[in-house]
Amino acid sequence: MSEQVTRTFAIIKPDAVRAGNAGNIIQRINDHGFKIVAMKLIHMSRPVAEGFYAVHRERPFFGELVEFMTSGPSVVLGLEKANAQPAWRDLMGPTDATKAPKGTIRGDFGTSMGENATHGSDSPENALIELSYFFNATEFVA
Ligand code: ATP
Ligand code: MG
Repeated sequence: MSEQVTRTFAIIKPDAVRAGNAGNIIQRINDHGFKIVAMKLIHMSRPVAEGFYAVHRERPFFGELVEFMTSGPSVVLGLEKANAQPAWRDLMGPTDATKAPKGTIRGDFGTSMGENATHGSDSPENALIELSYFFNATEFVA
């Protein structure tokens, strides 16, 4: 049961793509045994970013977050592994990149609380919702 292979949703955010770190982050995804089951480069529109982060709409940083997420291209991915959702959050490290340990993706590639290189779903249920927000059924490999 605890070893069940599941999917989670990830974003390589605009700061990391802009800095040329998308390849390094994809390498880590591979090295840690995730299977990439969907992937594309997108430049989020304002409505797409606002819809994705709608849960944070009332937070003081919402405007800044939407500006950031629409500031350039990002890579959206579907990842598969045993317990993929917590496994990907562990590999990313904590939200604030200035506090994230070296060796985590945010610790190595993020620069601040806002510009923290990657996103990961916060529950298995939200992973499925977020995957279907960005990918059609036909965009997943078997
Ligand atoms: P994500 O959802 O992107 O994986 P998270 O789950 O670790 O990150 P959330 O609390 O969901 O953290 O916040 C979503 C995103 O909003 C953060 O990743 C960060 O980019 C931004 N953010 C969160 N708190 C702040 C803040 N205090 N100031 C600026 N940006 C923030
Ligand atoms: Mg979150």
